[in-house]
Amino acid sequence: MINNNDSNNLDKIVALCKRRGFIFQSSEIYGGLANTWDYGPYGIELKNNIKRAWWKSVVYERNDIYGMDAAILMHPKVWEASGHTASFVDMLVDCKSCKKRFRLDKLEDNTCPECKGKDFTEPRSFNLMFKTSIGPVENTQSIVYLRPETAQGMFVNFLNILDTVHPRLPFGLAQIGKAFRNEVTTGNFIFRTLEFEQMEIEYFVRPQEADKYYDYWVDQRFNWYIGLGIRKENLRRRQHQLGELAHYARACTDIEYNFPFGWSELEGIANRSDFDLRQHSQKSGKDLRYFDDINKERFFPYIIEPSGGIDRSALAFLTDAYDEERIKNDVRVVLRLHKDLAPIKVAVFPLLKNRSMLVELAKKIAQDLKRYFVTIYDDTAAIGKLYRRQDEIGTPYCITVDVQSLDDRKVTVRDRDTMRQERIDIDNLKEYLTEKL
Ligand code: ATP
Repeated sequence: MINNNDSNNLDKIVALCKRRGFIFQSSEIYGGLANTWDYGPYGIELKNNIKRAWWKSVVYERNDIYGMDAAILMHPKVWEASGHTASFVDMLVDCKSCKKRFRLDKLEDNTCPECKGKDFTEPRSFNLMFKTSIGPVENTQSIVYLRPETAQGMFVNFLNILDTVHPRLPFGLAQIGKAFRNEVTTGNFIFRTLEFEQMEIEYFVRPQEADKYYDYWVDQRFNWYIGLGIRKENLRRRQHQLGELAHYARACTDIEYNFPFGWSELEGIANRSDFDLRQHSQKSGKDLRYFDDINKERFFPYIIEPSGGIDRSALAFLTDAYDEERIKNDVRVVLRLHKDLAPIKVAVFPLLKNRSMLVELAKKIAQDLKRYFVTIYDDTAAIGKLYRRQDEIGTPYCITVDVQSLDDRKVTVRDRDTMRQERIDIDNLKEYLTEKL
């Protein structure tokens, strides 16, 4: 396994992502747009697999969480009520020597990370929300924001959910979607970008049970990452100090990953108290209290919010999976992704691409397997190169069709991690792979 704390490893991962079609710089042919990235054929599969794993664990495998998908554009009053118009700000300072701008809270020892200068301008606040406007005339009435978090879409639908699914506390809403922040400190590849995807749960509880469910969700979410293959030594919990808390939070624990650039937040679990429902009740004039029909009382539930980033998780999964194995004088690069996350599950090759019978049989096998697993057929290089490609994108199983396959109807299946090869009957491939995957 590689050493996570080596900053060269980020370069290796960025290079692999580009070389193998995971992630590209956005608008690259025009010189790129800073801090925006495009996901290629394998990157989108990885992201979809992360989302699927999350949705399965928080929606399908539970009885108390409902999925939803709110619009990105919302009524501007939402952001007044939520406090984002006034408080979603970073304090910025400019270095007087090199003129670069930084977030005050990210400066170490009050020293400029670029030129080591110590003389800064007075801090100024900067709102992180991207503004745009609806309609052809731009005026104060037409201003809308690109949402900086998906959460508010769930709070403003609280009544709709109560009226349609009639849930009992505790219950939750789950949503995956894009969020946008005009970040000043960016960089570190897809760790901090202007546009990113969040996976958020808003879990509504009785106020007196908030602490219990806060601890519960910190554990649940921590274990989700471990269950998908993140090594324990690379994951930790970090509780926020009082001065660090967001304007809406009573308590917050970050799940941090040991990235090549240091321990950094992967997901935050916050106790948002009844702040949001109370605020939206006041601003909208609608009663957003929950009615408890057993005790016959109305109250604002507290909200526990596990809020993770899909792009950040993708980077953590890629980093944790990246491995270099020395074989004689060569280095084998392999992504040891959890099988649920691997973009491609099975690759099928003919040993000789100029033998039409092998090609036909290999194509037929791939086509049959496509009905059950994400499978690709490849004959565009020699077999050694084909294996290498699949190792680099983390494909758990490669199948080779050779001359003997035409006689005995068996193929060689090679396991990414053990490199063991087994001869398997073509007719048993589906069962064999189903069991393995
Ligand atoms: P940070 O302190 O790193 O700016 P945050 O505490 O502001 O993050 P939250 O508001 O808690 O982040 O957002 C929840 C999650 O959304 C984060 O844990 C992260 O995974 C993701 N996220 C937030 N901002 C970005 C961003 N600019 N780029 C990519 N992912 C992000």
